[in-house]
Amino acid sequence: SDDAVATAAQHVTPPSTPITAPASRQDALKQLSHTNTADSSILSQLTSNPFFTAGFGLAGLGALAAFGQRGVRRLASLIRQRLLVDVEINVKDESYQWFLYWMTQHEKRQLSSSLMSGPISTERLSLIERAVRRLTPRMRHLAVETSKVELPNGSITTHFSLIPGPGQHILRYRGAFIHVNRQRESGRTELLSTGSRPFETTTLTTLYSHRFVFEQIFREAHELAQKSVEGKTVIYNARGVVWEKFGYPRQKRPLDSVILEKGVKERIVADIQDFIGSAKWYADRGVPYRRGYLLYGPPGTGKSSFIQALAGHLDYGIAIVNLSERGLTDDRLNHLLTIIPQRTLVLLEDVDAAYNNRRKVEADGYAGANVTFSGLLNALDGVASAEERILFLTTNHIERLDEALVRPGRVDMTVRLGNATAYQIAALWDRFYGDIANEDLEEKRTTQETKDMFMNRLVECGVLANLEESTVSSTSTAALQGLFLYNKGNPDGAIETAWQLSPGVMPN
Ligand code: ADP
Repeated sequence: SDDAVATAAQHVTPPSTPITAPASRQDALKQLSHTNTADSSILSQLTSNPFFTAGFGLAGLGALAAFGQRGVRRLASLIRQRLLVDVEINVKDESYQWFLYWMTQHEKRQLSSSLMSGPISTERLSLIERAVRRLTPRMRHLAVETSKVELPNGSITTHFSLIPGPGQHILRYRGAFIHVNRQRESGRTELLSTGSRPFETTTLTTLYSHRFVFEQIFREAHELAQKSVEGKTVIYNARGVVWEKFGYPRQKRPLDSVILEKGVKERIVADIQDFIGSAKWYADRGVPYRRGYLLYGPPGTGKSSFIQALAGHLDYGIAIVNLSERGLTDDRLNHLLTIIPQRTLVLLEDVDAAYNNRRKVEADGYAGANVTFSGLLNALDGVASAEERILFLTTNHIERLDEALVRPGRVDMTVRLGNATAYQIAALWDRFYGDIANEDLEEKRTTQETKDMFMNRLVECGVLANLEESTVSSTSTAALQGLFLYNKGNPDGAIETAWQLSPGVMPN
C-alpha cells in the first residue's frame, strides 16, 4: 500500500539527506532510487580496492565465527527453553526435605533399610561406608544427617540418614533422566518454623517430554513423608524463636489408654472435633479461629497423657512450651503462638508460672526473662490470623490463676482432672489385668472376683471411702499405674502391695 512504501522509504533515507516529508508517492520513490544509486557507487569503488576486499574478508570471517558462537549459545538456550523443563524448590518449601528424603530412598532401594537407621555401632558405620561407596557412582555427593533421640528410659540412640549433598546428581526415574542440582547459598540462613537452615535451592531438570515425572515424584515424596510419621505423633519444642521437631515422631498413644472420669474424654473430643469442622462458621462471622482448653488438677492425673493421646487420635502434632522455662519472654511466647506448625495442638504447661512472675522475684533475684501474666494474655489474644489454633493450658494450681484467663477466645473449656475415682481405678485395673486368664491365678477366681478383692483392699487401706463409681480416691492415676507396672502380669502382687497407695505412704 502507499503508506507502507512511504515508511520504507523513510527508513532507508540516510540521516544526512534532508528529510522533507514526501508530498506524494512519486516523491517518495524518487528519494528511494536516489539513495540506492549513491550506495551502489560507493560500493563499487570499495570492491574494486583489493586491500579493502581482503580486510573485509577477514573481518567477515571473524564476524561469522562470532555469529556462529552466538548461534550455538542461542541454540543451546533454545533447546533448554523448548526441550527441557526444570523445577526449582527451596529450603523454605515444605516439600524440600521430603524431596531430599525421597531421592535417597529412591537411590538406595536395593540397600537394606536397616542399614540407614538404627543405633550407632562400628559395624553399622562400616556398613554405611560400604553403602556410600556403592552409591557413589550414581550419586556423587551424600550428606549425613544425624539426629539423636532420647528414649523414655533416658538412653540415647543415634539415627542416620544419608541425603543427597550439595552438588549435581543424575537421577533415573521411570525412564526419565533427571538432573538434580542442589545449591547452597553461602552465608545465608533461613529461619523456618522448625529451626534455621542454610538457604539452598534444588533444581530438577528433565526433558520437556518427561515433565510429568515431576508431579509423580512430588506425590511420591509426599506419601513417603506421610508414611514416615504414620501412626506417630510429631512433637515440637520451643527453641529460641522457632518450633523445632523434638526427636523422631513418637508412637501414637491410644486414647483408650488414658482413663478419665466417665464422659470427660468424650466431651472434650466432641468439642474439639466440632471446632475442627467449623472453619467456615468462624470465617463467615469474622471470629478468630481458635479454641482454648484448660486442664487442671494435681500432678499425675493424666493431663499431658490425655493431650498426647488426643493429638494422636486427631492425627495432629503437639507443640509444647513450658511457661516456667527460663528465658521465655513475653515476646517470644507471642511470636511462637503466631507460627504454629499446621495441624498441631499447642500445649502450654504450667500456666500458673506466669502468675507467679507477677508477684515475686525469684529467690536468686532472677526476675527478668520470663513470661508475665499480661504477656500470656496478650499472646492468647494475639494477632488474629486466619489459621486454626488449638491451645491446651495445664496447671497444677488453679487457685493461682486469674478470672481474666477463663474468657471465651482465651479458654473456652475448663476441665478438672482429679485423683482417680473408683470408676477410673476399676478401668485401669481392667487395662492391666483384664486379659489375664483365670487359670493363671493361684486360686481359681474370676477376673471380676480378683478386681473386687483389689477394690475392697483399697477401701480397707483408706484409699477409697466406698465403692461408688464416682468416689474420689486419695491416689493419683500415675501412682496407681506405678503399682500396676511394678506388678506387671501379677494381680495378686498388686493386691498384696495395695497398702502402698494409702494416704501418707507413697507421695502421689
Ligand atoms: P500430668 O500431666 O497430669 O502430671 P501425666 O499425663 O504426665 O500427668 O501422667 C504421668 C503418668 O501417669 C503417665 O505415665 C501416664 O501414663 C500415667 N497416667 C496418669 N493419669 C492417667 C490416666 N488418667 N490414665 C492413664 N494413665 C495415666
